[in-house]
Amino acid sequence: MSFVAELREALGTAHVISEPEQLRVYECDGLTGHRAVPELVALPGSTEDVQTVLRACHRERVPFVARGAGTGLSGGATPVAGGVVVSLARMTRILEIDLESQRVVVEPGVANLDVTRAVAAQGFFYAPDPSSQQVCTIGGNVAENSGGAHCLKYGFTTHHVTGLTFVLPDGEIVELGGKALDPDGPDLLGVIVGSEGTLGVATQVTLRLVRIPEAVRTLLAGFHTMDAAGAAVSDIVAAGVMPSAIEMMDRLTIEAAEHAVAPGYPVGAGAVLLVELDGVVEQVEDDAADIERICVECGAFEMRAATSDADRALLWKGRKSAFAAMGRIATDYYVQDGVVPRTRLPEVLRQIEELSEQHGLRVGNVFHAGDGNLHPLVLYDSGVVGETERARDLAEAILDACLDAGGSLTGEHGVGMDKACSMPRMFSERDLRVFERLRRSFDPLGICNPGKVLPTPRLCGEVPGPYRVHALERIGVAERL
Ligand SMILES: Cc1cc2nc3c(=O)[nH]c(=O)nc-3n(C[C@H](O)[C@H](O)[C@H](O)COP(=O)(O)OP(=O)(O)OC[C@H]3O[C@@H](n4cnc5c(N)ncnc54)[C@H](O)[C@@H]3O)c2cc1C
Repeated sequence: MSFVAELREALGTAHVISEPEQLRVYECDGLTGHRAVPELVALPGSTEDVQTVLRACHRERVPFVARGAGTGLSGGATPVAGGVVVSLARMTRILEIDLESQRVVVEPGVANLDVTRAVAAQGFFYAPDPSSQQVCTIGGNVAENSGGAHCLKYGFTTHHVTGLTFVLPDGEIVELGGKALDPDGPDLLGVIVGSEGTLGVATQVTLRLVRIPEAVRTLLAGFHTMDAAGAAVSDIVAAGVMPSAIEMMDRLTIEAAEHAVAPGYPVGAGAVLLVELDGVVEQVEDDAADIERICVECGAFEMRAATSDADRALLWKGRKSAFAAMGRIATDYYVQDGVVPRTRLPEVLRQIEELSEQHGLRVGNVFHAGDGNLHPLVLYDSGVVGETERARDLAEAILDACLDAGGSLTGEHGVGMDKACSMPRMFSERDLRVFERLRRSFDPLGICNPGKVLPTPRLCGEVPGPYRVHALERIGVAERL
């Protein structure tokens, strides 16, 4: 029996796609500059189905790539030409809600926001909140160790996964962790979360739930300069206050957001901070007073608190629409994702300004300031000869500045194909060999999402494609935060 016939028999004919025009749907993820058409797409409906597909791939030495919603921005789900895409789109069941243990067990194709929707009425939520949360899947979140605006207080995906059912690249099913925290033995969950689909396929995920806080307070502070706003961020954290989110926007981004959704940000501000606090009422009140004082001491010329849920939503709308709003002032933009230690924020932001002048291109800054996770937006016009290349050079120079400041080459979008070639900028040859050995211990044949994360000469000879707006952004379902 042929490979395709074998999978059709096991999964059902409708769940194995091999028609060329249907395969094109899977040719890229959010990194649309990289494309490859797979040989076939398998849509398993259970852990056992995934096992069947991976066993067949292992036997025939066929490379495979797991895929959730395809919203990844670093090319993690880009297929291997001639390989198999294992789409988890049918595995969307919430298997168990155990409020007593504050746990939920889900299949990997469940959308992030659907976890919160399933438990909100009982007073709980799932904390990691990527801005693609309406559609991105828990499987993709696990693979990318995804974050969001509120991960400053609540932690990233890795802090919320306590158990996994995982199919190894040879088809063996393993159970890791469970509902309890801190299982015995080496931290294999920690190895797998964030491994970008290179070690196997997650088929069931046990997640931690968090109680909805008693009170939420959202504050907006306007500053004349980014330096002053950056200093306020450092001082807030140094004072021991722990907001659930601290987001910063620069003048260019504020103006774009005002044009787009009129959130009422302070007129003439060079920077704004959006700070959110949650917890018990008394603590939130105390912390809000501290933050107000610190911001004023650092030079805030305007402070205000959201007065209602609608007002709060509008303040966030300005922040969340900032990326899309750039479309009003530039034809194209390239989004970078780097991290710097919080204390180096003002210095790196100044460097970005200098680099912007040197390259003759504008850069908008809108980012998770509390985490030091920058998302500089390099604005350019792909219709002007050479601007695309200049934009890419500038984005790379910004990443270098982050690394020189002791930061990291990705905050939440992953390495994938996009930044594999930058890995030697951050890790030594020896580090990379250790990563490779770890990977080979899971996947000796090298068939599980090959060509991602670790640099290979082939990848590094390629030129990354320019940024393009993701279809989800175009239809208004998700924004980049
Ligand atoms: C508009 C927009 C906004 C975004 N905002 C954020 C944000 O705020 N924060 C953030 O962190 N990210 C953000 N992202 C990036 C993206 O949404 C996340 O990386 C998300 O976790 C990807 O989920 P997905 O289901 O789309 O995964 P995919 O893109 O399908 O896959 C991502 C990676 O996960 C692997 N994978 C998928 N499922 C499994 C599985 N079951 N087992 C093993 N590996 C698997 C794939 O092989 C691939 O390597 C944004 C993207 C867009 C387009």
